[in-house]
Amino acid sequence: MKKLKLLSVVFFAGLIFAGCSQKEDQLQVQDDSLTLKSASVKAEYDMVPNEIIVKFKEGTDASKKALVFEKLGGKLKEKILTKMMEKQGDKDGIDLVSISGTVANALLAAKNYPEIEYAEPNYIYQHTATSNDPYYTNGSLWGMYGDATSPANQYGSQAGEAWAVDHTGSNTVWIGIIDEGYMYTHEDLAANAGTNPGEIASDGIDNDNNGYVDDVYGWDFDGNNNTVFDGTSDDHGTHVAGTIGAVGGNSKGVAGVCWTVKLLNAKFLGSAGGTTANAIKAVDYFTDLKTRHSLNLVATNNSWGGGGFSQALQDAIERANTVGILFIAAAGNDGADTETSTSYPSGYPNANIIAVASIDSKGALSSFSNYAITKVDLGAPGSAIYSTLPKKSKGKIVSGYGSYSGTSMATPHVTGAAALYASTHSGATANLIKDAILGSVVPTASLSGKCVTGGRLNVSGF
Ligand code: CA
Ligand code: CA
Repeated sequence: MKKLKLLSVVFFAGLIFAGCSQKEDQLQVQDDSLTLKSASVKAEYDMVPNEIIVKFKEGTDASKKALVFEKLGGKLKEKILTKMMEKQGDKDGIDLVSISGTVANALLAAKNYPEIEYAEPNYIYQHTATSNDPYYTNGSLWGMYGDATSPANQYGSQAGEAWAVDHTGSNTVWIGIIDEGYMYTHEDLAANAGTNPGEIASDGIDNDNNGYVDDVYGWDFDGNNNTVFDGTSDDHGTHVAGTIGAVGGNSKGVAGVCWTVKLLNAKFLGSAGGTTANAIKAVDYFTDLKTRHSLNLVATNNSWGGGGFSQALQDAIERANTVGILFIAAAGNDGADTETSTSYPSGYPNANIIAVASIDSKGALSSFSNYAITKVDLGAPGSAIYSTLPKKSKGKIVSGYGSYSGTSMATPHVTGAAALYASTHSGATANLIKDAILGSVVPTASLSGKCVTGGRLNVSGF
């Protein structure tokens, strides 16, 4: 399944590259008003080949928009106006536009129209796991160990030490998983599977009026339905969920940083990745739940990345910031210094972001992990991380376990830490939780000069 997914990505990227073969060349826009020279889109990022996102200036009327779409060689595919945009006084939202030509040409042409505030690609994001490691059995959960636990590993998150003083989380703390779907029926996750308190299951009615019918375990923005778990292809989301909150102390499987927590899911990564348009809806989905249902949603876990800067996505992350939701994000798996060639979304400057690099069980920076002195905050266990997975057995989907590596796996250790801190410090603001996480790191040689704190996650005092 993983191989198929990767192959499809490579194939897709090839298509995009072919479609943008004029990159770096001077583009001649066939527009009657102007001829512009300079390409504005780098072909190095994956993007939906025939779509752009357009934000019009306030008050632009529909007929004018239609005219602009026509001039751009496109038509409105979807108007996106989330409840959160409306709440901010935005009456127009953003427009997803289908175009007949290349993204680069359409974006260049868009600069001709003063009615347009900005136009940008609909990027495609991928989850940030790198590989499946061999199956682990005994002593495999090193990311949860501390120097005084048994078994011990000083480079683990020290979660075991927090558990030793009965700090194991709380079912009053909610976490949003923005990823693939996750297996909420998994034997080691079901007890921590949160359900939208404003929604009545299977009555065909959008009871909480958030725009999504029967969104009980969350919403699938990729498939546009309420089935967030679709089978073994949702392995990455399920793995992430287990690191945050697999049930502990139940003599089964693994344990998350929080033994008790409430998980909700905004699935936007499908078999071909996820788009900017759907990422925005996913982020706003949780912001809206916290705003209108007073859900004690502390953080979202974002183990995905790709694409270039998106104003529309950054705006959505900022809306989450205004209601105190931490946006905990993977630093990315290019094995690169991303201080200047920023990795998104972890590299946006929003105050609610915690960007996470990966370390291995010997305390080294994982070979795949990105780092950046001001844009990555800390390191956490991300190599050979054992967690929950959906597994196919005799034609059925059953509870399984396995080991993955990636900044995707480091990130949920930090998200779990945020939930753990919130469970023992009720009412703590996002700022305070972030300060607690960054302020308690253990200085680590491999992270010195590679991230803001120069240290690794340590929840022993949480
Ligand atoms: Ca609903
Ligand atoms: Ca367990």
